[in-house]
Amino acid sequence: MRTRVVVAALVAGAFVVGATHLDTVGKAAGEVTPLGDTAQLASSVTRATAPEVLPVAQIADPAADAAELGRVVQIQADQVARVAGEQAAAAEKAAQEARAAAERAAQEAAAKEAAAAAERERAAREAARRPLYVKPAEGVFTSGFGARWGTRHNGVDIANSIGTPVRSVAEGVVVEAGPASGFGLWVRVRHNDGTISVYGHVNEILARAGQHVAAGEQIATMGNRGQSTGPHLHFEVWLNGSQKINPQPWLAERGIQL
Ligand SMILES: [Zn+2]
Repeated sequence: MRTRVVVAALVAGAFVVGATHLDTVGKAAGEVTPLGDTAQLASSVTRATAPEVLPVAQIADPAADAAELGRVVQIQADQVARVAGEQAAAAEKAAQEARAAAERAAQEAAAKEAAAAAERERAAREAARRPLYVKPAEGVFTSGFGARWGTRHNGVDIANSIGTPVRSVAEGVVVEAGPASGFGLWVRVRHNDGTISVYGHVNEILARAGQHVAAGEQIATMGNRGQSTGPHLHFEVWLNGSQKINPQPWLAERGIQL
């Protein structure tokens, strides 16, 4: 009887060790010890090396082995999920910060643009208030442009007392301010269209060459210097910077009556 059991165990040996629960293996150990399939046992030992060192007998049970493996895989999956979750949270936080920064930048840009628009509007209002052309000096129109006393008078004369303000008739840049033959002292201003206006016999020069002047800005005072028979402003207009024309119609076209 004992022999038959051993024989039966011998026949089934290979399957018994691999498939039987450890308790069965343990119980059978006394009788079936020689039947142990060493190759399979070695395989079980190999499987038992990772990830935890487990008893060989326990690893020999495929169901428990699978369960343990499943537990380990589950732990790893949980870890991966946790890391992924942390990364997602970090990414979301970064995105929120980026959105907030973009919003702040947009608000700052909008505020800056609003300030710039207000400044443009203020400048436009001021420019609209400022006249484009003004009278060069207040006074009495005493002499016109053209032939006079057998010679040619290249400008117009406006008489008033010494010290009367002399103003640039339009915006421009002072190109010369100093002594000039016949004029005593003069100031010449080049305007944006290239026209030069000339202010002669002035008593005091209040501008310097290279200075930007606005329309109506005082550049000198009326005087009696040079070839002059009394305090007055001698005013000329040089078209394109050289062609001396009658200042009276030129001023009239620009709304200024002498
Ligand atoms: Zn004159």
